[in-house]
Amino acid sequence: MSHWGWTGTRSRGSQESGESTRSLVLTRRVASTIVPSMTASAIYPRVAPIGPVAVDDRACARLAALLHSRSIPVDAEEVAPLGLSRRETGNFYLLVVAICHQTSPRGRPPLEGTVAGRPLRGWDYLSARFAIAVRQDPGLLKPATWTQFTAQEVASLFRDSDLGNRLTDPAGRARLIRNLGVVMHDHAWSFLEDLHTTCNGRIGSGSPNLLGLLAKFDAFRDPIQKKSFLLLAIMRNTGLVSYRDEEYLGPPVDYHEIRGHLRLGTVKVNDPQLRQKLLAKTPVSESEDLAIRGAVRDAIILIANMMGTRANPSLLHYLFWNVFRSCCTHESPHCKECVRSCPLPARYVPLAIGNDGSRRCPFAEVCDSANSIVRLQEHVFETDYY
Ligand code: SF4
Repeated sequence: MSHWGWTGTRSRGSQESGESTRSLVLTRRVASTIVPSMTASAIYPRVAPIGPVAVDDRACARLAALLHSRSIPVDAEEVAPLGLSRRETGNFYLLVVAICHQTSPRGRPPLEGTVAGRPLRGWDYLSARFAIAVRQDPGLLKPATWTQFTAQEVASLFRDSDLGNRLTDPAGRARLIRNLGVVMHDHAWSFLEDLHTTCNGRIGSGSPNLLGLLAKFDAFRDPIQKKSFLLLAIMRNTGLVSYRDEEYLGPPVDYHEIRGHLRLGTVKVNDPQLRQKLLAKTPVSESEDLAIRGAVRDAIILIANMMGTRANPSLLHYLFWNVFRSCCTHESPHCKECVRSCPLPARYVPLAIGNDGSRRCPFAEVCDSANSIVRLQEHVFETDYY
């Protein structure tokens, strides 16, 4: 039976069932990766984080305790394409996620613009612009079209009429789209749904599974699987699919989450040379990038495990991503107070309101950096993984 056709409202009950299995599988899986610093499988609590980059179990426990009594909004997209069939929606997200990386490049203006009168940025802008484009030309959702994509088409699709071309590396993104089309063609797949059917709805168990098939695309080859987890979470969160093994759905880790977790102290960089690279904004090596992102992924999984049935990695990802990109900005984080223009989505704002009615970052109470003059930034690494 294909799970693709499941379109009902996602059940929290089904999300929460199998909790102990989820903890077990994710813990076992992260412990077997190449990242040297992983501590999610360690017995909790630990006295101190060890290794060049490590999850700090005590900091994770503080955050889990803070969140445990709060109501965390469900994981959902702010912007969704309208008027597309289920199969078309799958292809829509396959393409947008494939090119969603580095939308706030260091030293360059971030991707933003206005779509249908709404000022949007980053992922929201990318998906809203593409939704407008596919309404005018549904052929943009066909793998045969993808094989012909050019840099000029990518630049033109995402150009804002006021701000101009803000999307970096259109040639690289066009390459990823062409590769999507070629791999789809080589496997005789027309829709993302075909991969789901082939895998019988399995994310990571058995063979074939969705993580394995997605890794055949250049855009989804990241060992930390940021884009794969994001795509699979979106498909579930929009009610288009269900999975047989949700316990394999890990968190997508992007640069906002790296910056936030480094500042929170849930992930510690113990290696002095690597820490210096972060402070000096010197590019890190690929193995250092994997170590940092792997530790952030493990921290999110550990916090989800600590919260039991009250959270899962996808729910926490949406919370962290929204708070970090809105409040934990590069230069002026909202540790003491949110600015009037703070773009935190409305459904997360109650988490930021204190007992006295003031508003600040929801994590300030337990954040290592809230009162510090040194706040780490995410590491510098050129990549299309995230
Ligand atoms: S308290 Fe400040 S540094 Fe810490 S996560 Fe919030 S905004 Fe970032």
